[in-house]
Amino acid sequence: MQYFAKQYEVAVIGAGHAGIEAGLASARLGCSTIVFTINLDWIGNMPCNPSIGGTSKGHLVREIDALGGEMGKAADKTEIQSRMLNRGKGPAVHSLRAQIDRREYSKYMKHALEKQENLDVKQAEIVDLTRDDQGLWHLFTRLEAEYTAKCVVLATGTFLGGRVYIPQPRFPRRFINFKSPCAALKPARPRASIAAASTFRFWKCKKVTKRPCRFLSTPKPRPKTRRIAISLTPTKKPNV
Ligand SMILES: Cc1cc2nc3c(=O)[nH]c(=O)nc-3n(C[C@H](O)[C@H](O)[C@H](O)COP(=O)(O)OP(=O)(O)OC[C@H]3O[C@@H](n4cnc5c(N)ncnc54)[C@H](O)[C@@H]3O)c2cc1C
Repeated sequence: MQYFAKQYEVAVIGAGHAGIEAGLASARLGCSTIVFTINLDWIGNMPCNPSIGGTSKGHLVREIDALGGEMGKAADKTEIQSRMLNRGKGPAVHSLRAQIDRREYSKYMKHALEKQENLDVKQAEIVDLTRDDQGLWHLFTRLEAEYTAKCVVLATGTFLGGRVYIPQPRFPRRFINFKSPCAALKPARPRASIAAASTFRFWKCKKVTKRPCRFLSTPKPRPKTRRIAISLTPTKKPNV
C-alpha cells in the first residue's frame, strides 16, 4: 500500500562518489536533503581498484576539496599507500594517487553523511519519479513509500541498467554475488600458487619508503592510518 513518507527540498538518488558530494553540498548550503542508496553498507563503494586520484583524477579530488567536499579528507584518512605519479615530468602533470582501505572509506563516508545536519540517508531503491503541475518531484520506493522534493539529483552512476557479462550467463545485476563459496576453484589453488611462485621474482620488488602525500590543502596533522609496507614491481623495462 502506497503511503506518504516525507517532504524534502533536495533528494539525491545514489550514494556513490557523486551522490555523497551532492548530498553534503546541498545540506551544507542549508537545504533539507535526503540521500537514497540501495545499500547503506556500500556508501562510497569503489567497485574495482580501490584508489582515489591518479592522472587527471587527482586534480579533480583537489578541486572537490577546494569546494568544501569530503573525498580528499576521506582519502587522506583511509589511505594505505600514496604515490605522486609523473614526477619525472613537469609539475602540471604531477598527480597524486592513493590506494585506499575500501571498507574504511565506506565507513568514513557513511558516518560523514549520518552526522551531517539537514541530511537524512535512506536505504531504499527509487523505482519511479514523476513531476506534478507545481513542479514538485514525487519519488517512489520499491516498498511503496512516496517522498517529495523540489529538486532531484540523479547520481545513480554505474548501477542504472547494469548487466553482468561472463559472457554467459548474463543477468541484470551490478556485481556478481560474492556470497557464493567459489568451491570449484579450490582443487586448482595449490597448482596456481606454485605457478605464481615460480614466475614471480620477489627479489626484484623495490620497497617504497617515501613519505605519504596528501590531498588536503589545509595543514592539519596527519591522522594515524593503517599503513602497510608497499613494494613496487617493474612490469616493463625502464626508459633509458
Ligand atoms: C567493475 C568496475 C570497475 C571500475 N574500476 C574503476 C577504477 O579502477 N578506477 C576508477 O576511477 N573508476 C572505476 N570504475 C568507475 C567508478 O566506479 C565510477 O566512476 C564511480 O563509482 C561512479 O561514482 P558514482 O557516484 O557516479 O556512482 P556509483 O559509485 O556507481 O554509485 C551509484 C549509487 O547510486 C545508488 N543507486 C542506483 N540506483 C538507485 C536507485 N534506483 N535508487 C536508489 N539508489 C540507487 C547506488 O546504491 C549507489 O549508491 C569502475 C566501475 C566498475 C563498475
